Amino acid sequence: MSTYKNCQSCGMPLKKDPNHGGTESDGSKSVMYCSYCYQEGAFTQPDWTVGEMQSFCKSKLREMGFPGFLASWMTKSLPRLERWK
Ligand SMILES: [Zn+2]
Repeated sequence: MSTYKNCQSCGMPLKKDPNHGGTESDGSKSVMYCSYCYQEGAFTQPDWTVGEMQSFCKSKLREMGFPGFLASWMTKSLPRLERWK
């Protein structure tokens, strides 16, 4: 099984996740997704497109004080993550 440094849905570094990753339906930790995106074996926002995820992340990053251009740059690689392939 491969492991990932970043959540394969939103791109957040998994070590920054306060819960250290999402959970599978059997209660084990997900190695791919963070606790914001993935809970008990399902995506918390199952209907989102990658575009919706990008705008969500951008507004989150702006809330955290990142300038807009940096937020855009940080979310640019989202379509390459496993969830969106
Ligand atoms: Zn995530």
